Amino acid sequence: MEVIVIGGGLAGLSAAAALGGEGYQVRLLESRPFLGGRATSYQAGPETIDNCQHVLMRCCVNLLDFYGRLGVTRDIVFYREFFFLEPGGRTSVMHRSLGSFLGLRFLSLSEKLGIARGLLAIRREYSTRQDLDRITMRQWLEEKHQPARAIDRFWRQVLVSAVNEDLERMAARHGFQVFQVAFLSNPDFYHMGVPSVPLARLYSTDAWRELGNVQILPRTSVQRIVVENGGVRALATSGGELTADFYISAVPFERVATISPELAGEIDIAAFEHSPITGVHLWFDRPITDLPHATLLDRTIQWMFNKSQGRYIELVVSASRSLVETRREEVIELALRELAEFFPAVKQAKLEKAHVVKEVRATFSAKPGLEEHRPVSRTSLRNLFLAGDWTRSGWPATMEGAVRSGYLAAEAVTAEAGNPRPFLRAV
Ligand SMILES: Cc1cc2nc3c(=O)[nH]c(=O)nc-3n(C[C@H](O)[C@H](O)[C@H](O)COP(=O)(O)OP(=O)(O)OC[C@H]3O[C@@H](n4cnc5c(N)ncnc54)[C@H](O)[C@@H]3O)c2cc1C
Repeated sequence: MEVIVIGGGLAGLSAAAALGGEGYQVRLLESRPFLGGRATSYQAGPETIDNCQHVLMRCCVNLLDFYGRLGVTRDIVFYREFFFLEPGGRTSVMHRSLGSFLGLRFLSLSEKLGIARGLLAIRREYSTRQDLDRITMRQWLEEKHQPARAIDRFWRQVLVSAVNEDLERMAARHGFQVFQVAFLSNPDFYHMGVPSVPLARLYSTDAWRELGNVQILPRTSVQRIVVENGGVRALATSGGELTADFYISAVPFERVATISPELAGEIDIAAFEHSPITGVHLWFDRPITDLPHATLLDRTIQWMFNKSQGRYIELVVSASRSLVETRREEVIELALRELAEFFPAVKQAKLEKAHVVKEVRATFSAKPGLEEHRPVSRTSLRNLFLAGDWTRSGWPATMEGAVRSGYLAAEAVTAEAGNPRPFLRAV
């Protein structure tokens, strides 16, 4: 049986890996010269940089399963400690113990008690409450009388990065899921994984050779699916017409209507909006910190990652609407100004170079009411299946969500082929 997967992001790659491993003959078409889609790296002068720091948690069991298929799990370094820094540099360390939570210095005792009440309410309401996709996380936190500083310094700090959306715009179900799955279920699930190699190296062609039945065709762009008698007959691509038994479209939502306008009646693309992420790469002439990473409180910059010996630093701002129109030089100025408040060594250090990556279409906005518009893998065309972080994966737009969608589409292909196989791992 032959399958063509359109798109070499994590959704397409994971679908290809699952089906290739089951003996399907898979061709993966990717318009760009490299794999990874939004989770990738590229050359910026002499440096290979990630388009943005990507992190995962141990609860991303499908992403880890996919990394396992490619044999790259050892390239992910896991951390059990989170460093919260206040302006001025005071540091609090959080791991999964009551003692560490009570010891957090950036929250007062009454704020901690408020958060504990909130976490208990999440545990209680996670599977019972019906309106979590209709209200925002902010509304829910206010309903629970969370103290203002607990909202800003704890709930916002954790959730805006995890879901890439502001608390005022995020459906409460996503906020619930982050805490329920990562912090309140399995004791190891909150560990944060950081790739120790540039992202694109995780999907290098060597790994694919091991998988056997997957042929990767970079620089091959699909222009149009060709529909006949309720199914896809072929794909019109930059490399000519290609045919297979099954097709998986794993392109972002803004692309799907162009290549398959036939789906316009069944997918409400207008319901989707983007949420941006900005990454700032800074290279200093000397180390400015020895922390591996830290979350920075009360400022625009939310996260710092120490990419190399405290000299190459990457800063991340999720849901970064305030920076979209800001000039590159001003973003760098802001980053240096704020960073110096947390790491005084910045004041003496010389900035050798800087790179700003604004991903305006980073993810979909996980707003209330969107869930019912996220399509499932099956379409009205019998041999066309959908994947992509925006489809109904059960997760917000993340690498785990993308891989889940890829596995779900692969499962749907095997079911349609008459030999259903399970790929999705449950958390
Ligand atoms: C700046 C940034 C930071 C992020 N940080 C994190 C993080 O820390 N943790 C996390 O879990 N997630 C993070 N994400 C989200 C994560 O990267 C995405 O959710 C995930 O990579 C999406 O994968 P995908 O396969 O669904 O889509 P994509 O990665 O967009 O892949 C789609 C692919 O299809 C290709 N394509 C499009 N049209 C065609 C066509 N016509 N023909 C052939 N190919 C085509 C594209 O070139 C692309 O490679 C981040 C995203 C961004 C942008």
